[in-house]
Amino acid sequence: MRWTKGALLFVAIILCWRPVGAQDLWPGATYDPRIPTLKSIIGHDIGEEISSPEEITIYLKALAAAAPDRTRLLEYARTWEGRPLHVLVIASPERMTRLDAIKADIARLADPRRLSSDEAGRLIDQLPVIVHLEHAVHGNEISSSDAALAEAYHLLAAQNDSVVQTILRDALLLIDPLENPDGRARFVTHTKFGRAATPDADPLSAEHDEPWPGGRSNHYLFDMNRDYISLSQPETRGRIKLGLEFFPQVVVDLHEMGGQNTYYFAPPADPLNPYITPTQAKWLETFGRANAARFDERGFAYFIREVYDSFYPGYGESWPIYQGAVGMTYEQASARGLAYKREDGTTLTYRDGIVHHFNAAITTAYTAATNRIQLLRDFAEYRRSALTEGEKAGVRDYVLVPGSDRGLAARLAENLLTQGIEVRQADEAFAVGSQRVPAGSYIVSTDQPSSRLIRNLLEIEVPQPDAFIREQDRRRKKRLGDQIYDLTAWSLPLVFDVEVLKSATDVSAKAHALKPASAAAAAPLPAAKVAYVLPWGTGAAATIADALRDGIRVRQASRPFTAGGRSFATGTAIVRVAENASDLVRMLGTIAAKHGAEIVPFDSGWVDSGISLGSSEVVPLKKPRIALAWDAPTQSLSAGWARYVLERRYGLTVTAVRVSTLPRFDLREFDVLILPQGNYSGAINDDGVRQLREWIRGGGTLVTIGEASRWAASDKVDLLDARSEMRDGKPEGGDDKDKDKDKDKDKEKKGGDSSVSFNYEKAILPERERPENTPGAVLRVTLDTEHWLASGTDGAIQAIVEGQRVFTPVRLDQGTNVGVFATKDRLVASGLVWDEARDQLAQKAFLVEQPLGDGHIIAFAEDPNYRAFAEATELLFINGVLLGPAY
Ligand SMILES: [Zn+2]
Repeated sequence: MRWTKGALLFVAIILCWRPVGAQDLWPGATYDPRIPTLKSIIGHDIGEEISSPEEITIYLKALAAAAPDRTRLLEYARTWEGRPLHVLVIASPERMTRLDAIKADIARLADPRRLSSDEAGRLIDQLPVIVHLEHAVHGNEISSSDAALAEAYHLLAAQNDSVVQTILRDALLLIDPLENPDGRARFVTHTKFGRAATPDADPLSAEHDEPWPGGRSNHYLFDMNRDYISLSQPETRGRIKLGLEFFPQVVVDLHEMGGQNTYYFAPPADPLNPYITPTQAKWLETFGRANAARFDERGFAYFIREVYDSFYPGYGESWPIYQGAVGMTYEQASARGLAYKREDGTTLTYRDGIVHHFNAAITTAYTAATNRIQLLRDFAEYRRSALTEGEKAGVRDYVLVPGSDRGLAARLAENLLTQGIEVRQADEAFAVGSQRVPAGSYIVSTDQPSSRLIRNLLEIEVPQPDAFIREQDRRRKKRLGDQIYDLTAWSLPLVFDVEVLKSATDVSAKAHALKPASAAAAAPLPAAKVAYVLPWGTGAAATIADALRDGIRVRQASRPFTAGGRSFATGTAIVRVAENASDLVRMLGTIAAKHGAEIVPFDSGWVDSGISLGSSEVVPLKKPRIALAWDAPTQSLSAGWARYVLERRYGLTVTAVRVSTLPRFDLREFDVLILPQGNYSGAINDDGVRQLREWIRGGGTLVTIGEASRWAASDKVDLLDARSEMRDGKPEGGDDKDKDKDKDKDKEKKGGDSSVSFNYEKAILPERERPENTPGAVLRVTLDTEHWLASGTDGAIQAIVEGQRVFTPVRLDQGTNVGVFATKDRLVASGLVWDEARDQLAQKAFLVEQPLGDGHIIAFAEDPNYRAFAEATELLFINGVLLGPAY
């Protein structure tokens, strides 16, 4: 065919054409054709389409296969939905042949207790700097993952590129393209399903506007960028294991934020966590300046030191910091689709986001490579100086003292072990100062390289700078909104309700190193003639949940008793030999060992005082049939936490039912209905409330959490018994957290407050129209141990409190205030609570049980399943679910 002028022009246009706003990944780069492009494997170019999790895996495998000398593809975990989590290791061929030796060497460098300075010098000389680039922990923060594919391709395919050569020579890269495949799969499905014939840039079009629960979270709807304290999700546990295998010196977590923004990188906003060293802070500045230079050169806008702080230790960027890394979060404005029309009239494309992330990632890797020696030195020094820093601050050992619920301390110890923290268990009783502590107590020495992580987790208070708090006080008084990004308290001993003692010197007790799962090891259960008795607690609750599922008949003492010289509290479980099968001892023994529960065999039913084992006040428990409200308008985090705690922590079977389906759902088939946080006023109508009321009257147990309790207490719903109404409440202005939505590092608080405040005089009600906001603190709660709902507690726990909810106590003729916030002087266990909020919350209701007909309502003022690290309050939730139907 002859070339016409028109055809030539057409070819010229094709060659020059790029999507509007498209930018080069790395101007001037040329690529080795032997390394496959994304297009050649998947069919679309970088930025043309949002790659699905499956496509990402396929392309990673193709890259690894094309460059076997420079790569290793590792699967480090699987998601709940069975998707693989991969990290692609990239380095020079010389480095890759020594990968196992490098891992062994970095582990040696990471433990200065067994390292001479000569050897340290040799290791620093030889080792590559290890750079971990993690992408898209939030599944709808999409450009991160395609940027990761571009990074891997560029590092393997770029030819004669001195930047790439330096990176491969001096660094070892771990590229994790997708930390949350389950969430991304949800996002990709909905955006492609909603897509117009040509991509629609309207932010409110279906392809951008995600239906509940969105792609941000994982299968159990957890924000995994908060999970590094709980480690409850397999994805997080896999990353922790990887972190302890490679000990990276530089870790970047690449996110997206709202589409109106530009790009964020270090240095972070105030406040810095006090366990970040000045050297680490200096590196944050160094990496920030390097990124800034690159962005300036290419004309990309960015911001620093705003919004994104580095205070909470459970972010993906944070956990590695306290192991000695330079940890950073990068945020790209999200197109949340292929194109996004901004308020200023410009269009942000998907490819723009990829280009920005890509440039930041490559620049970071290059900066690390060119600073290899100093980064390794500073890493080693961080781990060395950590050995003595605790002692200088007056803590050589922390001692975790098991309380009446031994399972709590055991689980806390297990959590620390998982994080690579060394824990010893005392073989004998010993003294800490003037206090005697029992054998079985756990000892955590600060004389170990991760002591700053230990102190972050075990100290009661991690202080924020006074100047920062003063500034927040000034802002709140001017109604400016605070700059507090996340919780101001997270102390694990508090939320696990485990006593922690501090010793300034080594405790002298015979002790053994704790190994994973050894906490649950138990001797075989001796056979009993009459009954097996289980003091209630987290281990007993988990055991009884399993036992009921397996058909074992279980009862519970609704009042205390004393037998054989030992007292047993309200809530003690009793499994009678006579009403169970002959292999009871084996079945129960196996289950109890799995959960670390204590079982006391009884050969006689005789009690010294209190109720008898055969008393009518020993109530039969039954396997609860549980329904959980799901989908809008539940808050997805609260719904997901509840489902996780029920299914995975306590092994209970749950039917999740969409709120919109509730009207045609036969509740009579269920004993328990859980309403997670959410404002149900537009979703459950008068008829629905009437049906709920009838079901409760017929014996149902309704569990309401946080905002759902507020809904249940509202005038219109009136499920929580009301007295005279003073006046109609009116919803106030919008949700003031919404303004943060676009800037969110992922505040799970957003949308948490419907800001619908009422002023009724009711059994439970918001105290006044606008209670002071609490940004996330730990408060003391006093419990009524005579009530079955407080079974297994010692009468006092600590609860995570956030937001603006305040409930007055229920009238005593209407129900029981099972949990009440402590008096003002004792109220705050840890964190920032403004004085006005202290006044409002002191002695207000935390947990209420209110009978209605044959059933009852159990209302929590706050979320007992918070991020699944609040072990002590989770027990109260499980008590409500497991025991509610029996009472
Ligand atoms: Zn994010």
